[in-house]
Amino acid sequence: MPLFVCKECQCIENTALSGYWWRIFNALDKRALCSGCDKTFVNGWHNKFSKEKFNPETWEYESDSREFVKRKYKDNEVKYGLNIRI
Ligand SMILES: [Zn+2]
Repeated sequence: MPLFVCKECQCIENTALSGYWWRIFNALDKRALCSGCDKTFVNGWHNKFSKEKFNPETWEYESDSREFVKRKYKDNEVKYGLNIRI
């Protein structure tokens, strides 16, 4: 599940735990928002992992148009337990 950076609070969020795909295809503003910022149909931060602000020293964006975040350090892989294409 790809990770992205919330356009509102700049935290790292998972597309599967937020309304990311719904927002990209259906919301008028098409802003990628985390579950904490998206009040459309998600009720607050999911608590599946801690909310963490994007830090360019430990994370980086993929260069594709969707701006997914990719892991930079092994610690993040363990912490989030996610498969992310790199
Ligand atoms: Zn947010």
